[in-house]
Amino acid sequence: MKEITLIPGDGIGTEVTAAVQKVLTAANQSIAWEIVNGGEGAYQATGQYIPDALLDSISTNKIAFKGPITTPIGKGFKSINVTLRQKYNTFANVRPVKSMEGIKTPFNNVDLVIIRENSEDLYCGIEHLVTEGVAESIKVITEKASLRIGEYAFQYAKKHGRNKVTSVHKANIMKISDGLFLDCIRRVAKKYPEIEYEEVIVDNMCMQLVMYPEKYDVLVLPNLYGDIVSDLAAGLVGGLGLVPGANIGEDIAIFEAVHGSAPQIAGKNEANPTACILSAAMMLDYINERSAADLIREAVAYVIREGKHTTKDIGGNATTEEMTEAICSYIRTVSINAAG
Ligand code: NAD
Repeated sequence: MKEITLIPGDGIGTEVTAAVQKVLTAANQSIAWEIVNGGEGAYQATGQYIPDALLDSISTNKIAFKGPITTPIGKGFKSINVTLRQKYNTFANVRPVKSMEGIKTPFNNVDLVIIRENSEDLYCGIEHLVTEGVAESIKVITEKASLRIGEYAFQYAKKHGRNKVTSVHKANIMKISDGLFLDCIRRVAKKYPEIEYEEVIVDNMCMQLVMYPEKYDVLVLPNLYGDIVSDLAAGLVGGLGLVPGANIGEDIAIFEAVHGSAPQIAGKNEANPTACILSAAMMLDYINERSAADLIREAVAYVIREGKHTTKDIGGNATTEEMTEAICSYIRTVSINAAG
């Protein structure tokens, strides 16, 4: 039985990670979940924001599924999400964004993958008050991390039969830091002549995406632009309730949706479980359970296309639990038919 660390997280985290557990059970995945938590709740229980038990569990299991964790704004402890990504060197944040039949948006032809550098940039958290009224935040871009994410993006494109990689930057203004990022991606691009390569300045990228999203395939971005463009791209396909993600390192991977803890809807049984369930499908791909992953994606697509058991954010009136049950029911029916 595969042991996987489960971090339920805050806000809607417990609701959407419970959905993942149910769906993986329906898909016959026998997983021994090791449940540990971090953040404010963990601090109250253990006196640590990231309890040793959580770190030990990820170090041992090497795979974690994580719900969103609330990070205090403008004060308080450092983001647990960023800390885990840095500690485990999960350098590539992979976020596939795809239109789904049954979702009403101005676009039905989005199919792009965001590859966000996950370890540095302004997320290093090096900031200080120079003097009263003057604050400084340091953006760190290194050749090592930029070459590594470039290589990951082109390898990803090659492996998944994608034709184009677009690097997104602001090197017209940050000539040295974003200039280094761009130079590294260009160097990697030269090794992959079969894959089209282009560069777009991040502000133009935002406009291009909301006008011509179909033109884009794989995007590679430094950390901050990757974070912002991910939410913009989620908006193109129906919102944050739909977009999955993975944090991939050399030998450790942490799977989590793009969305946060959505405190406004927490505890109301309203959250869309899709983003987390599709993140779980990415996790199954990672452990080579490809057919179960495909079945889960098929079930999600069916339930959304049918539109009878979908959550409020995508126009339905089902609860989180009802939508999850509809997905499980599809999986069970297909599995029984296949067996019998
Ligand atoms: P958010 O993603 O939590 O919510 C943004 C909007 O999307 C809200 O309107 C919310 O209701 C909606 N939404 C998000 N997920 C949804 C779902 N599954 N179903 C339906 N609607 C959904 O972003 P925020 O409000 O900016 O952040 C809230 C908290 O989450 C903050 O503390 C932030 O730091 C944290 N956060 C954590 C992560 C993470 O753990 N990886 C990621 C992003 C934000």
